[in-house]
Amino acid sequence: MSTGQIVHIDRLEAKNPFELRVRKGSATPDYTVKRALETGDMGFLHSFTTGSTVDGPGVRVVGWTAGCQWRCLYCHNPDTWNITNGTPVTLERAVEVLGQYRHGLEAMSGGFTLSGGEPLVQDRFAVRLFSAARAMGIHTALDTNGALGHKLTDAELETIDLVLLEIKAWDRARHRRLTGRDVTQTLDFSLRLADLKRPVWLRYVLVPGLTDDAEDISRIAGFASSLGNVERVDVLPFHQMGRFKWDSLGIGYALANVDSPTPEAVERAREIFRAEGLKAF
Ligand code: SF4
Repeated sequence: MSTGQIVHIDRLEAKNPFELRVRKGSATPDYTVKRALETGDMGFLHSFTTGSTVDGPGVRVVGWTAGCQWRCLYCHNPDTWNITNGTPVTLERAVEVLGQYRHGLEAMSGGFTLSGGEPLVQDRFAVRLFSAARAMGIHTALDTNGALGHKLTDAELETIDLVLLEIKAWDRARHRRLTGRDVTQTLDFSLRLADLKRPVWLRYVLVPGLTDDAEDISRIAGFASSLGNVERVDVLPFHQMGRFKWDSLGIGYALANVDSPTPEAVERAREIFRAEGLKAF
């Protein structure tokens, strides 16, 4: 994930998304949250960071959204699960911030990535922010679990240059254990993106004992290869950088005793994707 530098924009500045942020928007009335979700006039953000080189091509500004309907055992940003943990920011302000970076992003062949949390919890805000970025000539990327992809029209998907799609497990029972949700909507969205020929980078988090089953990875690799629009695969080694958030929030953390995968294990997973003709890193 991002190792970005500080961006000074009101209270949205963050060194990186591993900064714990809670109740930043808890004073926002329910009807205001509801209207924000309906219109996209306002978003709820954990933070903006700059300097990421791992959230899409080039150097990226990343907007970290609040709100996620999943509960992944390895989530390193559980403070983004609740939308009102995020800071309320108007669409105009978010666009203004992006505009400040447009020339730098262009010079570094970078762009803007919306991550989270799950950005499509705030689908109207995401769509309007992507449209504004596009209008400024900024490359756009969406980092998503894919489950809410149905909220975007085909035309709206055209405003997103690249989808960073996370398929977390193939086996249905394993996926449900890992995320609390079914994998079907993610796979449906993958197929739709393929039909529309939208570029995808697949992301796969490798967790020892949880997502390192070779057969399961092989099924994902075969599926991804068959789509025809997956440009690359990033195998992301599990780490414990988010553990302190679980402890601080008082949520039971099931992976406290799980180590990061060895470099050899990461390479073995990459090889499984490569065996299906995919570029894996
Ligand atoms: S989808 Fe992402 S933000 Fe949501 S619980 Fe899973 S890892 Fe965390």
